[in-house]
Amino acid sequence: MHVPFNNLFEQYQNIKDCIDNAITDVIKDSAFIGGKYKSRFEEEFAAKYDVKHCVSCANGTDAIYIVLKMLGIGVGDEVITAGLSWISTAETISQAGARPVFVDIEEDYYTIDPQKIEEKITNKTKAIIPVHLYGQPAEMEKIKKICEKNNLFLIEDCAQSHFSTYNGKYVGLFGDAATFSFYPGKNLGAYGDAGCIITNDSVLAEKMRMFANHGALTKHEHLIEGINSRLDGIQAAILLAKLPFIDEWNQARIENANYYNKCLADIPFITTPKERKNVKHTYHLYVIRAKWRDELKEFLHRNNIETAIHYPVPLPFMKAFSYLGYKESDFPILESCSKEILSLPMFPELTQIQIEYVTKVIWDFYQR
Ligand SMILES: *Cc1c(COP(=O)(O)O)cnc(C)c1O
Repeated sequence: MHVPFNNLFEQYQNIKDCIDNAITDVIKDSAFIGGKYKSRFEEEFAAKYDVKHCVSCANGTDAIYIVLKMLGIGVGDEVITAGLSWISTAETISQAGARPVFVDIEEDYYTIDPQKIEEKITNKTKAIIPVHLYGQPAEMEKIKKICEKNNLFLIEDCAQSHFSTYNGKYVGLFGDAATFSFYPGKNLGAYGDAGCIITNDSVLAEKMRMFANHGALTKHEHLIEGINSRLDGIQAAILLAKLPFIDEWNQARIENANYYNKCLADIPFITTPKERKNVKHTYHLYVIRAKWRDELKEFLHRNNIETAIHYPVPLPFMKAFSYLGYKESDFPILESCSKEILSLPMFPELTQIQIEYVTKVIWDFYQR
């Protein structure tokens, strides 16, 4: 049996007519850049989040950069974020001209540890970017309090957490703005790069819309220097076609996670993911902790099971950020967990038979 890490072709086959029609419509209307599908996607995504504005852009990395720039964050400023994430969360802080400040994560949940945030706040700190990693919401109540107390912007990186909830409310609605990626493998994915920002702040929304469009709201009226970061029509139409299925797909991921938890419960040397109380974790990734992780990964590969590591090198330990001068011992949880985390196959179409096969191979590994 082969168990892929994700299976986007199977998802396509299940909704082929919707996707094919969506693409054809864009071509018929020549609505390739801007146009009605892009606007309609922004409206429907905002409506589903019950938020005032959705500003689409080219990808989830630009989304963070656009928010930072339009909040006025730049040279001389510091932005606090989690030590475990995709590089976008940190590199956009530097791109804006500011300095990324990393905080260790919570051992059980892999999200930024609110207990360790305040010691990193200085008079240069302007914002905190929690990342709802793997689909698990960060500890928003505490983080929000810290932001309010210290007068900091709160920007949520929701690239891995479409429609996850915390205390019954969608993550992405807790701060000044939230950013999304629709990279193909994300829970809601386009067929190429795509991203957006949601916010209830109308002034900020207008600035971001302008900045992402060469600094213009009306053609040829460039009020500021901006960038070119657009969601193209075909991606917008594909996202519109997929949006009605997201709840069902997230539910299927949750059921797969529950089945994994049940199957893997008795295997020694591995730990299944823990969920924070009062959240809906949408399992963009199903991440276990495993002893002899690298050997297990290799064994699974030899048995046709594809796995991944998110992420093998935590951000403060990356060469790219060596200029910040961090030591591994500054981040004890990152240091230990990065050697043990392993992402097992996870996607809505994954079957119980496949999960049982993964379980069997993991058992075989530890019984050798
Ligand atoms: C995927 C991802 C991004 C960036 O999204 P792109 O669309 O690939 O630019 C940012 N942050 C996190 C946590 C991500 O997983």
